[in-house]
Amino acid sequence: MGMSDKEALIDMGFPVNRVEVALKKTSSLQDAITLLTDPAKEHIFHLESGDNRDDVKDIEADDASNDTEMNMLGSAEAKSLQCSECGKRFKGTAQAEFHASKSGHEKFAESTEEINPLTEEEKKLKLEDLRQKLAQKRAFEALQDREAEKRNETIRRKKDAESAALIEEQKKIAALKEVEKKKREREQEILAKKRIKEQIEADKIIRREKIEKEKLARSGIPYSTTSAVIKEPISAMKSGFGTTARLQFRMNGKTFSGTYDATETLLEVAQKIEPQSGVPAQHATFTLTFPKKVFTESERNKTLRELGLLPSAALLLN
Ligand SMILES: [Zn+2]
Repeated sequence: MGMSDKEALIDMGFPVNRVEVALKKTSSLQDAITLLTDPAKEHIFHLESGDNRDDVKDIEADDASNDTEMNMLGSAEAKSLQCSECGKRFKGTAQAEFHASKSGHEKFAESTEEINPLTEEEKKLKLEDLRQKLAQKRAFEALQDREAEKRNETIRRKKDAESAALIEEQKKIAALKEVEKKKREREQEILAKKRIKEQIEADKIIRREKIEKEKLARSGIPYSTTSAVIKEPISAMKSGFGTTARLQFRMNGKTFSGTYDATETLLEVAQKIEPQSGVPAQHATFTLTFPKKVFTESERNKTLRELGLLPSAALLLN
């Protein structure tokens, strides 16, 4: 740290007791200088110190007290004190003590050399010097303030950038979530459409079955409600969809059914149902009930798909 206000004012040549009063009465160095240099404010110092001494008398009083000590020591009349360590000279003991406390110098010698009170010109120069020092001090403080402000600004900008990055990251996450959501919705939409399609297909089959049932009823053939879905073989052949055939067999009034692969031949099916039919496969004859059609020996070697028995058919077995 630089010079304190008190040091600066004493250094400028104002007496210690007046400096103390001025600093007590004012809140800034500039105001203290104004007070110390304004003759109109002179009474303040007299009220405060309880006497009516001026600068010169002040020095004389100091000297007088010094004189008393000096006289007691039997020395010659001392006009000033000099620091033996740095050579600075002081008007009175108060200033010397102040120097001692400030510098840590302890050895002082009396001097018969008188310090001339500052001339008006010297006072002006000192004052100007002090004002410049003050201006420098203020400029330095302003610079420090600006640097602190700059640092704060940098910190603030960094924080802003960090929070902006955070917001950007959150936006990305939200966008990804939105994409995922849309994808799920689309998948569910496709599934729903598929279910509707399946429902429509099922409804068509039910409708067709109903029509078949009515046709059969008109033609006098009984229709079992437990029977598999009957499909027109021609349309089934045309579409050829599915990979299995559900076949219902009727034989001497009894019925049984089974599901077979579309690639199996009618002969293979005949072999599979031997335990239930009791008819040897090579002797089995299949007749499609609607439209009526008897499968020939060569047709028995064709697949169920080729014979148009998908997805289901009712067969008479002899
Ligand atoms: Zn010294």
